[in-house]
Amino acid sequence: MKKVILFDLDDTLYDYATVHKKASEAIFKKFRKSVKISKKDFDEKFSASRNEIHRELSGTASGHNRVLYIQRLIEKTHGTVEPKVILDLYDAYWDTLLNKSKLNPGVIKTLKEIKKRGFKIGIVTDLTSHIQLRKIHSLGLTNYVDGLVSSEEAGREKPHPSPFLLLLNKLDAKPSEAIHVGDSPKKDVEGANSLGITSIHLDIGNSDKKIKANYKIKEISELLKIIEELSKN
Ligand SMILES: [Mg+2]
Repeated sequence: MKKVILFDLDDTLYDYATVHKKASEAIFKKFRKSVKISKKDFDEKFSASRNEIHRELSGTASGHNRVLYIQRLIEKTHGTVEPKVILDLYDAYWDTLLNKSKLNPGVIKTLKEIKKRGFKIGIVTDLTSHIQLRKIHSLGLTNYVDGLVSSEEAGREKPHPSPFLLLLNKLDAKPSEAIHVGDSPKKDVEGANSLGITSIHLDIGNSDKKIKANYKIKEISELLKIIEELSKN
């Protein structure tokens, strides 16, 4: 019997890619106010900084921490640490992203239905907890979410079993009692499959021929049919 449904957050419950673009523009706009720099030069320096942090912290939640990308950028442009500048740019990014983010169509309706049927809902996500908590709050998901585990809390990134198992433990469920929904074959589907969690791939154009989910959907609302089907077995 299935009793919990686990969701990925970014690009599964809301469209990250679009708002990320707007938030990145907000960083540049803020930066240009104090430093004369072309967009091209800024983009190059920013990606170099981000790539360094990714390399140095590969496989950890800190590797996605934007405050580190920005600190590295400022070290390149200012040659020192500038706390106020770094924090202002960081806030420009996240304030824009959180203001502009909208849940994907059908998410609230589907979560309501899931709750009505007695399922617990968890979110398992790769990033730092502070930012993911802000997203859950500002997207209006608080009343639907029973548990959260970030890769920062688990100490490992998906598809490692740790974040999935920690969340199942919080929700008092076994892997066989869980369904997982996510957009990334490599992180979400593979992570769920390796533990025997029923995997559902939200296909937003990122399929992987080698990694097969138990089910594939195009929209979150299709989840309800699958739940019905599974409850008959
Ligand atoms: Mg995702």
